[in-house]
Amino acid sequence: MLNFAVGPVMMDDETLDVSSRQIPYFRTNEFSAAVDTCRKNLRSLFGAQDSYRVLFMTGSGTAAMEAAVMNVLSPKDRAIVVNGGTFGERFAKICSVHGIGYTEIECECGKTLTEERLTAIDGSGYTAFLVNLCETSTGVLYDIDMISEYCKKYGLLLIVDAVSAFLCDEFCMAKHGIDVVITGSQKALALAPGLGIMCFSERAAERIAANDVKSLYFDLKDYLSNDERGQTPFTPAVGVILQLEEKTTRLIAAGGIKTALEKAREKARYFRQGISGMPFKMFADRPSAAVTALSVCAGTDAYDIFIELKDKHGIFVCPNGGALKSNVFRVGHMGNLSYGDYDKLLSALSDVLRR
Ligand SMILES: *Cc1c(COP(=O)(O)O)cnc(C)c1O
Repeated sequence: MLNFAVGPVMMDDETLDVSSRQIPYFRTNEFSAAVDTCRKNLRSLFGAQDSYRVLFMTGSGTAAMEAAVMNVLSPKDRAIVVNGGTFGERFAKICSVHGIGYTEIECECGKTLTEERLTAIDGSGYTAFLVNLCETSTGVLYDIDMISEYCKKYGLLLIVDAVSAFLCDEFCMAKHGIDVVITGSQKALALAPGLGIMCFSERAAERIAANDVKSLYFDLKDYLSNDERGQTPFTPAVGVILQLEEKTTRLIAAGGIKTALEKAREKARYFRQGISGMPFKMFADRPSAAVTALSVCAGTDAYDIFIELKDKHGIFVCPNGGALKSNVFRVGHMGNLSYGDYDKLLSALSDVLRR
């Protein structure tokens, strides 16, 4: 089996080794120390200051998105939401569910946010800005430098869903003034699914502490106080946290975020070069290094390609849903994939296209 989907992804042998062990009891100093290592490593990889708080939410990435938004914002806020696909739409829905007023900047599928679209909005009427750095459904990467500048100009809280962008596309919490970063275990960290990860600036953490959230499990005030002793209020995904400790320690030893980004970029470049003679077009006008979305030429069905690769070659790529189902499929660059693996995918794609 080869998996080029955008989560879960191929795990490293070291991660598989950790995941084969028995899960220990977790209200211990030893487990708190593992959590502390994860926090330190993640702050380094996020470009966060030492004072920033890293919290873990047992759940998928969406649980972390919802928890972050409902705890940092309230109905008194007014947000700008960039909506260029499935995940932008999800941020908008989360705001709706929690009574947070928002204005959407809708981007056509496959198109990035332009400076004209952004500056057409007078930011002075808003308090927060929500964006998925990589909109995984279309492979588009938004311009974090441009967004950061805009948010600094108007003093907006910047909430970044980096679930797929983390370890693939560059961002730095301190430099870009990012108040909240959200990611998950099953994307480029290449761990088992089940762990949502959030990092908060000081002003975001202050908002959490002062907010009145109507939820038991999702009230992050409890997570903040438990975090002071390296614990979570409820049983965390203990096994995934132990995988995270091993993986992030290895990432830091290998050169940290810079090396990770270079590797992702190289994989994306290798694959994009490999398909240059094939009847596909890059779907994203500003592509992320996490994923390549390809639109197929007339006469080819993108969903059929997904099925044929899966059934005849044992290879997963990622189909698209909704209106893009027949026209677009995606190939991920996250996780334990070698150039040899991409060669296998390219030859399987040639085979599928021949038929
Ligand atoms: C994968 C992903 C998520 C989280 O999805 P879950 O299925 O809830 O883990 C959120 N945002 C983006 C941009 C993603 O790629």
